[in-house]
Formats: sequence, C-alpha cells, structure tokens
Amino acid sequence: MRGKAVVQPAKLSVAIVPRADHPISRDDISENALKVLYRLHNAGYQAYLVGGCVRDLLLGKEPKDFDVTTNATPEQIKGLFRNCRLIGRRFRLAHIVYGREVIEVATFRGHHQDSDDTNDEDSANTSDLSKQSDHGQLLRDNVFGSIEEDAQRRDFTINAMYYNIADFSISDFAGGMAAIKAKEIALIGDPETRYREDPVRMLRAVRFAVKLNMRISDKSAKPIKELAPLLGNIPAARLFEEVLKLLLSGQGLATYRLLDTYDLFEPLFPQLGPLLSDKNSREVRFVEQVLTNTDNRINTGQRVTPAFIFAAFLWYPLEERCQQLMVEGGLTHFDAFNLALNDVLHKQIQRIMIPKRFSMPIREIWQLQLRLSKRFGRRAYQMLENPKFRAAYDFLLLRADVEGGALLELAEWWTEFQSADEQGRKNLLADLRKAEGSAPATKRKRRYRAKPKKAE
Ligand code: ATP
Ligand code: MG
Repeated sequence: MRGKAVVQPAKLSVAIVPRADHPISRDDISENALKVLYRLHNAGYQAYLVGGCVRDLLLGKEPKDFDVTTNATPEQIKGLFRNCRLIGRRFRLAHIVYGREVIEVATFRGHHQDSDDTNDEDSANTSDLSKQSDHGQLLRDNVFGSIEEDAQRRDFTINAMYYNIADFSISDFAGGMAAIKAKEIALIGDPETRYREDPVRMLRAVRFAVKLNMRISDKSAKPIKELAPLLGNIPAARLFEEVLKLLLSGQGLATYRLLDTYDLFEPLFPQLGPLLSDKNSREVRFVEQVLTNTDNRINTGQRVTPAFIFAAFLWYPLEERCQQLMVEGGLTHFDAFNLALNDVLHKQIQRIMIPKRFSMPIREIWQLQLRLSKRFGRRAYQMLENPKFRAAYDFLLLRADVEGGALLELAEWWTEFQSADEQGRKNLLADLRKAEGSAPATKRKRRYRAKPKKAE
C-alpha cells in the first residue's frame, strides 16, 4: 500500500457556541463523566464530551453513554486514574470504570497518511500505524492528532460537536448545530470517499436517520445504492454488532425499510434479499411481522433474542433450500431440512458472524417446527417440557399469522393444548386421533413393541 495517495479531508472551521447559546447543562451530564472531565482539565489537559452524547443532549434525548476525548495520551490518562483500563488494538482507548458505568476516554485522532510522508510532526510514530485497502477502506487507524483532525475523522456533522469542560462551550466543527435544526444526517467531507473508507457508515446513516427522526441529506444519500456492495468487505464479526444495533433499536421495522430503500439489506442477508423484491409476498410480511413484534417487545420492556429474528429472516431461504435438496437430491423432507439448515446458516455466517450462543437456539427453533406438527401420544407432553418450546411456539404463531391455513389450525391447537387441564388435553389428543384416522394408533403399537427388541 506504500505510495497510495490518501485523499486529504476538507479543512473544517470551528464555530464556538458559548454556554449561553446552547441548552446543555452539567445537570444532564453523568457525574462520573464530569469527574473524568475535571480530572483531565485540572491536570492541564484539554477535555471534551464528544459524539453521540453531545448530539443527544442537544436533541433533548438521554444519551446512551458519555464519551470523552482529550489531548492526553492513553498512558497519561492511565497515570491519572486508578480505575483505568487500556483497551483496543485498532485504536487504543482508556476505559474509566465506575461500577457499571464505563466512561470511554480517547486521545484525539490524527490523519492516516502514507508511511513515506515525513512532513508531519506525528510522522515519527505514524509509520505503519495507519493502512488503507485497495477499496479505500481504512484498515489501521492509530495516529494521535489535534482536535481539528479528530473532528475531520468523525462520520456525520451532528457527531462532530465537542462540549468543552473548560468553559462549557460547544466546539462545532462541521455545522452540526445547523444540521440538528435542519434534522439532517450529512457526512463530513466527500460522501463517496467517506463511505469507501468505512462502508459501515452507510448503515450508521440509516440507523441515525431512523433513531433521530432525521433525513439523510441528498448528497450523503446519493452514493449509497452504488456503494452498498462494499459491505461485503466488512469483517463478519463487526457486521454482527452493527446488525444488532439496527434491529434491536426498538425501531427495527422502520430501520429495515430504510435499509431496503438504499439496497443495504441484501448485502447483509444475501439469501433473503432476492426473496423480498415483491413487497406483497409472504417473505416480506414475515420479516415485517417479526420486526413489528420485536419492536413491540422492546418498547414494552420485554426480552428479545436476536436468535428469533435471525431464525425468522432465514426461514424461507431454509424452506427453499430444503425443497431444492428434496427435488434435486431425492432426499426425505427430514434429511433435506437438516442439510438445508446447515447450508443456510453456513452461508449467512460468511457475511454476518453469528455466535454459537445464538446459532444453537436458531437451530432448535427450526428443528422444533418439524416436531410441533407431530403431536401424538406423549410427544405433545414432551414438547411442553422442552426449554425452547415457548420460542418455537411463538415462531409457529408468526408463521401461522403469515400463511394461515393448516398452520393456523396447528398453532391454535397448541394454544388450546397449553391452556387445557389434564382432561382437556386428553380430549384434544383423542380428537386429533379421530380426525386423522387410526394410523397413529398402529404407529404407537409398533413403537412400544420395537423398544425392547432394540435393547436386546
Ligand atoms: P449511539 O447513540 O448509537 O452510541 P454514537 O454517535 O455515540 O451513537 P458510537 O458508535 O458510540 O455512536 O460512536 C461514537 C462517536 O464516534 C460517533 O458519534 C462518531 O463521532 C464517531 N464514530 C463512530 N463510528 C464511526 C465511524 N465508522 N466513522 C467515523 N466516525 C465514527
Ligand atoms: Mg455512543
């Protein structure tokens, strides 16, 4: 990568907004964040709140967390706080730990540059600290700099405002105050270059637009569709984190729709994407329904698991693959289903890493869909005892909602079976036997006889 020219970011001019002209009060700031800011300030360093917390405070929202930035190096920060941990390889950060609250303190970031560029005061320690790929993507990013440089490196104008603890003013480097008023998400600098540097910024633009009820500026929106495939270059583990933020925001449905508008959904779920072109299809209804339910659960304080959402997103790709294996490979439904399940998960984790703690329950939810249709005899009782029954039943309800017909009957049967008393359950099973003829009874006999034989 030596000698590859790096586009220099546009120069920013700072506007200082004095305390009297903005609404952020120290009462709104976490006490621990204030402690960190004051200790840095009293030790002679610059100290600012930055990023999401300043933006959210200006919007009258409660910030998720408070991030601090300073001209002190990580080692100097560590020297000031006993409760400090240094973390991160891509960029070293200090975490100041107060029980459950962690205040992240970052040293101002400088510019990435060529290793043979020696005209900069930082160059002695920049060789090999930053690196760019052939797509213009930043691979390493470990250079300290000034506050102006730090601001140029940030993604959106609304994220480049700094609250100065020295005089409680806000340093607005990119017109963030105006963008907040205009409700506009705009990248700092040339959008295409900035998306190429880090394609995740396209996902962030959509996430903030939905979360903050703003629109993406025309200039920042324009290149997205064309650059969306660059998401394929992002490590699968990072995309998992981003996708959780997108889907578990409490506004998952709106986020999905906006992602889809910008062709950003298909690169995340390549097997599902092609099934979503018809907006009236059951596939679209299924995705929208699971997101609606997820949003409702989050907004009423109920627990949600990403496993359920992933299981739903990949359900129709799984069914499709299963059919294909049955037709092409002449497999039984059971065998084809299990093979398809592995195929579909394997393909998905090429794009979005799904940790085992979620992929296991995804498999279970899917496999239980087969078992929910086998209700005879003890099986129905055993199913109720299964720790994943609840998730599998909820999943069945969702499928029934979208597909109706026999699935709806099956779902209703399980609803009744759960709430029935002992006699009620016996009756439900007896009705089932009657409805389905005598076949199950003979099956049962065979099974009882087969058992002792096997044991011999
Ligand atoms: P949230 O409320 O979702 O946490 P946030 O703006 O705080 O929003 P973070 O991911 O916590 O988002 O990032 C903190 C800050 O770091 C951002 O406000 C932005 O200034 C900067 N930042 C984060 N990710 C990027 C990126 N990919 N490119 C450039 N700057 C970024
Ligand atoms: Mg944040």
